This record gives sequence, C-alpha cells and structure tokens, in this order.
Amino acid sequence: TVRVRFAPSPTGMFHVGGARSALFNWALARQQPGGRFVLRIEDTDAARNKPEWTEGIIRALAWLGIREGDEHFEGPYFQSAYADKHRETARRLYEEGRAYYCDCTREQVQQRRGNEHLGYDGFCRDRGLEPGPGRALRFRVPEGGPTVVDDRVRGRVEFEHSAIEDFVIARADGSPLFVLANVVDDIEMGINEVVRGEEHLSNTPKQQLLWEALGHTPPVWAHLPVIVNEKRQKLSKRRDKVALESYQEEGYLPEAMVNYLMLLGWSPGGDREIMPWSEMEPLFDVSKVNSSSAFFDEKKLRAFNGEYIRALDLKEFIERCRPWLAPDVAPWPAEGYDEVVFERVAPLAQSRIAVLSEIIPNVDFLFLDQPVEDPQSWNKAMKPGVGREMVTAALTRYDDPDLPWRAAELKAALEEAGAEHGLKLGKAQAPVRVAVTGRTVGLPLFESLELLGRERTLQRLRAALA
Ligand code: GLU
Repeated sequence: TVRVRFAPSPTGMFHVGGARSALFNWALARQQPGGRFVLRIEDTDAARNKPEWTEGIIRALAWLGIREGDEHFEGPYFQSAYADKHRETARRLYEEGRAYYCDCTREQVQQRRGNEHLGYDGFCRDRGLEPGPGRALRFRVPEGGPTVVDDRVRGRVEFEHSAIEDFVIARADGSPLFVLANVVDDIEMGINEVVRGEEHLSNTPKQQLLWEALGHTPPVWAHLPVIVNEKRQKLSKRRDKVALESYQEEGYLPEAMVNYLMLLGWSPGGDREIMPWSEMEPLFDVSKVNSSSAFFDEKKLRAFNGEYIRALDLKEFIERCRPWLAPDVAPWPAEGYDEVVFERVAPLAQSRIAVLSEIIPNVDFLFLDQPVEDPQSWNKAMKPGVGREMVTAALTRYDDPDLPWRAAELKAALEEAGAEHGLKLGKAQAPVRVAVTGRTVGLPLFESLELLGRERTLQRLRAALA
C-alpha cells in the first residue's frame, strides 16, 4: 500500500506550491485502503524555523481538509526528533566505506579546480581521514555509470556520475544535511512514493544513491512542475501573493482553493474544471501530471471562488460570511448590526461577490450610521447639473407617504424623475446610490433602499443636499 509524505520546512508562510504538493499526495494516499499520508515537519534548520510557521502549516493543511483524525493521515512527525538516527546513519556510511571525511576548505577546492562551479574534486577520497574537528563527511559517489531516475512526471532522467560531486552528508559539526536526513526519515517511515516540487529533482540522484547505499529500494519519484505567474516567472514570496493564509483571509473558500490547486499541472480530463474534491480524489493520476510549468491564474481562481460561493445554499453562505460580520472585525458598531436585515440582503450579495470579504463593502450601508465617505466616488456620481438635481427629485418622490416602500415602486418613481431630466435610469440612479450607500457600485439599488427603509433613506438624501 502506498505511503506518501509531505515534508515541509517551517521557514515561512505556507504557500500555494506546498499546498498543491500536499493535495496531490493526499489524493494518492486516500485512493487506496490503508494508504497513508505522512506529515513530517523538517525542522532541523533551527536558525530559520519558527514554531508559528509550523502551526501555520498544520492549520492551513487542516483548512484544505488534510488533518489529523482522518484514517489516511499520519503524524505530524518532527525531523528534529530523529537527529540520533541521522548521525548514526552517517556514521554507518563512513564505517562501510560509502562516505569519507574531508577537511578541504572551499577556498582550497576552488584553488585546485580554478572554477567555483566545478564542485568538489575528490581530494580526500583516499586519504583515509578519521572523524575529527573541521572534517565534513562526504558521500563517495560510485565511479562510472549514470544514476537513472524514473520519474512519473518527467520520465527517465539520467544523471552521469561524473557530474555528481562527492556531496556532503554531514557537516564538520556532525549535523546531517537535508539530502541525508530526508532519505533517512523516508526510509524510517516506509515511504514508497515521493511526490514533490521540481526544485528537488537535482537532489534526486544523490538521494537515490543514498537509498541504495543504505540497502533499500528507492521510492517511486514524481517531480511536479514549477508554478509561474502571468509573466512566466516562478512564483516567489517576495513578488507574488503566495501565502495560503492571505487567500483564506480574503475569503476564498477552501473547496474552491482545493479545486483550483488540483488543476496546477493536472486535469481530470474532459472540459470540466469545476469539480469537487470528492470527485477529483479518485481520478487523480500522478503519471498524467504535465511536466511543463503551471500558470497560477489568480483571476481564474477568483472566478472559481465566485462559482463556489453561488453554489452554497443560502444558510451556508450566511454562515461562511460570519467571520467578516463578527463585531470585533466588522466596520460598523455592534448595535448597528441587524441579523434579520443581513439575512434579507444576503441573497443579493451571494449572487455578485467573488470573495467573502467583499461582503463588507456591499452591505455596510445597512449597518453604519452614515454611509462611508469617499470623496472620489462622491465626485464621480454627483456630477454638476445631475447630482443634486436627481437627489432632490428622488427626495420629493420618496417623501410621499402614499408611495409604497418597495423596490418596484421606488424604481418606477426614480425612472420617471430621470425621464423628466432626460436621463436613463442608470445615470439617474448613480447620485442616489452614492448619497445612500457612499459607493458607486453595489447591490441592486432599489432592493437596497427597500431594506434600508424609508426613514434612513430620506435622511441620507437630505444629508447629501445639506
Ligand atoms: N523540506 C523539504 C522542502 O520543504 C522537503 C523536500 C521533499 O519533499 O523531499 O523543500
């Protein structure tokens, strides 16, 4: 049975590339009875790790649906807990002659080779150095022959041994390097498939040699294509919005995020793209992953999210909006909020927002004492010769106690007023909208006015003229 793992290093915010790797692994583990997804936090770089990054990873995975409690989930394990095993293995490789100690400094190697890119020259291979201060442990790469990596995404990749230097597996202070610790843990944890980012492909021949030197059959490898932005640049945390948490905070639904991330390099076939996890999970096939780079299209993700929002039933939508409406977060005073009004406005908002945080600018006019002030919107809508005129006309008509306070009548009244000024409804309603909501775009205006009520609407129209 398959045992896959996800092995993030907690050195920063959890990003979308990591999330995609985790999901692909999760699908593979869940496809088989007894399949396991092992979460291993690679926390050995004490200088760059922070506990909050680890917590962030675990939280983000749980948000995506990958969490403790599921029978396919195992862990989290912490690499730092296996330090003895790493050292012991390094020692064993030395004792078996598969690794040797080396005291060359970088400068010495460079001087001998004349080119810093050529790598280590094997100077200490046969010097028989004992372990000691200032001595790093290097793996003795076998002479002759290539190492062939059979990658389920990239196919057969050959690495000539002449191009692989005798790489360091433990530093002079005895601490193991990533290439070694990662393999030792994978062996310990019985991992038989490794699905990870392409940036690790160059480590793979080294790791495969280590698996073999340690007497184990290497796992099946799969290296996922890089994820690029619209300029075809590799996504970077400095340049691009990559933290999963920022998507969560903006109001992306985890199910939309999962759906979109699964399509970064893979497709369920056919022309269906919007597909829930439950349907994708059994279809996922790592050998069908594309080896060319995958474009992270934020606009498309947004569109997906809008579709997922619209597919929620109303009650669920209201629940999902809660975090943005909570008294300590929402921009209106606690006493301004009215649950019943929100329930009435929610369907209007659900049909037009793309991310949940957009609920705020769409409904705040209902709960704030005064509409938000935004001079730019104001000036845009209150054009000379139209603005005050239309607000005045609306006020006159809406102030009539015989006018039923319903969207249809409110609309008809303003349409008439507009016609008298030679204005189509769209132009006629802009000043009224800004006077009442503070914004130039928003929910359908007349439904909004109906919800806001006669008194508050009239008061805002008067205030706009003051
Ligand atoms: N800790 C490594 C990383 O985050 C893991 C690489 C792997 O999956 O083997 O890049």
